[in-house]
Formats: sequence, C-alpha cells, structure tokens
Amino acid sequence: MIVGSGPAGYTAAIYAARANMGPVIYTGMELGGQLTTTTTIENFPGFPTGIDGTQLVENMRAQAENLGAKIVMGTITDSDFSGRPLRLQVDGADWVEADCVIIATGASAKYLGIPGEQHFRGSGVSACATCDGFFYRKQDVAVIGGGDTACEEALYLSGLCNKVYMIIRRDQMRASQIMQERVKTRENIEILWQSIPLEVMGDASGVTGIKIEDKKSGETRVVAVAGIFLAVGHHPNSEVFAKWITTNSEGYIITEPGSPKTNIAGVFAAGDVKDLHYKQAITAAAAGCQAAIEADRYLQSL
Ligand code: NAP
Repeated sequence: MIVGSGPAGYTAAIYAARANMGPVIYTGMELGGQLTTTTTIENFPGFPTGIDGTQLVENMRAQAENLGAKIVMGTITDSDFSGRPLRLQVDGADWVEADCVIIATGASAKYLGIPGEQHFRGSGVSACATCDGFFYRKQDVAVIGGGDTACEEALYLSGLCNKVYMIIRRDQMRASQIMQERVKTRENIEILWQSIPLEVMGDASGVTGIKIEDKKSGETRVVAVAGIFLAVGHHPNSEVFAKWITTNSEGYIITEPGSPKTNIAGVFAAGDVKDLHYKQAITAAAAGCQAAIEADRYLQSL
C-alpha cells in the first residue's frame, strides 16, 4: 500500500509494480501533490524544454497504472500498525490491510492567509523559489520569512533577480548564523525587519506588490515586487501515522539514516514527509524508488 500521489508515491508504485508487489496507491485529497501547485518544471531531467508540473505527475500516474499499479481515489484517515497485517482506514470508513506500507504523503507549504494570497497563487505567489524563481529573472521579488528556508530561497533568487526583499516579522531571524550572514552580506538582498505582510497586491497581469506594516511605526506601505515567495515553513502530512511512527518535533518522519525504514517493520517513508532538506520532485522520486526496493526486500523476507 502506497499512501500519497506525488513523485515519491508514483515512483514507488512504478518500482513496486515492476517487482510484482501488487501496489495499491491511495491518492489523498491533493491529487498529484505539490507539483500541481507550480507551473513549468524545468529541473526534472528528461524534459529539454521543461514540462508542466501537473502533466509531469499525470505522466507518472499513467506510467504506474500502465505497469499494473492500482490507483484508488481516497484519503487515509487513520492507521493501525499494532499488529499484522498493517491496517489503514480510508475516508473515515472502511479499513484496508497491507503487508507493507510506503508513506509518501508529502508536506504542504504553509500560507499566511492574507488577502490576495490565494488569488495570485501561480501568478506571482509561490512557495518554491527553485520551481518558480526563473520566471522572475531580473525583476524585484520578496521572500516572506526569516528561517533557513527563507534564507536559501533569498540566496537562490538573488542570483536570478534584480533585487530580493526579505520580509521578516521580528527584529531577528530564526535561521542559522551562517545563513543569516550570507543573506546580510549579499548585495541585492534587502532585509525589511519587523515587517508584517498585510496584503498581496496585483492586477490582471499578476502580482505588483506586497503591502506591509512596519511594526515599530505602525505605518503601512506597498513594496513593488513581481513575485512573492513564501517561506514560513512546511507542514509534513504525517498526522494519521503519528500514533505509531516516530517523527521529529515538527512532524517529519524519522527514518534510519540513509534508508526509508521507519521504526515499524514493513512501514517505509519517502519524499517530503521525511525530507527536511531537499524537498525537490527529483529527490522525492528517488526516495520513492528506495522505499520500493526496501519494501521488496522486506516482503521477500516474510
Ligand atoms: P522555520 O524555521 O519555522 O522558519 C519560518 C519563518 O517564517 C520564521 O522566520 C517565522 O518567523 C516566519 N513566519 C512563520 N509564520 C509567519 C507569518 N504568519 N508571518 C510572517 N512570518 C512568519 O521554517 P523553515 O525555514 O522552513 O525551516 C524548517 C526547518 O528546516 C528548520 O529546522 C530549519 O533549520 C530546517 N532547514 C534547514 C536547512 C538547511 O540546513 N540547509 C534548510 C532549510 C530548512 P518567527 O521566527 O517570528 O516565528
């Protein structure tokens, strides 16, 4: 049983189907996962002129299905790993059984919930600089957040864009010292401290700016930018397994170092639900492959 329909889940299904493991994928509510929230994917190898994110994940689905994976539209709402077989509840109703489970439920980017944010998702508002930064080359952009992700995004964007504003709500960052030093010394990054994002501004062409409030003076102003990158954290989708599976304090599943094995035999994790660092389609796909290979070894050992 594979839970999740992003690159990790579908790649696991492709390998599992080819190894005759009879994989069944439960897609979850966000069919296709985070790839479907971006536009063109230019950093997934094999597509010289890029590929639409939704199309890429749809290709993966078709490939898994053609190889014999069974795809079920349903969300896993509870789990019981207390014995064998392993049990999963679908859509709050029936329980299904499996010898082996691959958790590939991904992580969801957190959003701020301010006006304009959802309206301009995909036309100026993004939660992934590596995915979408290229579209804002030589333009001015803003990164929201002061953690390591925000610093990484800002540094990445500073190589592409004319100017990068980092909008940070406190007078200090949460990021590691080394990342802070890097953003502070980068010429085209300007840090706007104690600034609260209030509204995403835009018109028919997309985002034109972000309205912020200066916490010290109480004044509001609009910073003119063409792109807004949210880096206020990710939320790993591990809640339904939390009773059984060891996670860190943020909910990321902890696996054995260099392996997809969780603390429960026969339960593996792949992709962003266990990935604090890379969070890329290609790394998720690779993790799905590893999980399926380990699942095969596990099933052979039964
Ligand atoms: P994070 O450390 O939780 O930082 C989130 C940032 O967003 C904080 O600056 C936070 O401000 C801000 N924020 C949250 N909600 C906000 C809101 N509503 N309005 C404005 N700002 C808001 O998240 P992260 O940067 O994604 O990092 C997650 C974990 O991954 C961390 O442990 C990090 O060290 C790790 N990580 C490591 C690396 C690396 O080692 N290369 C790279 C990326 C991430 P406050 O500080 O005021 O709460």
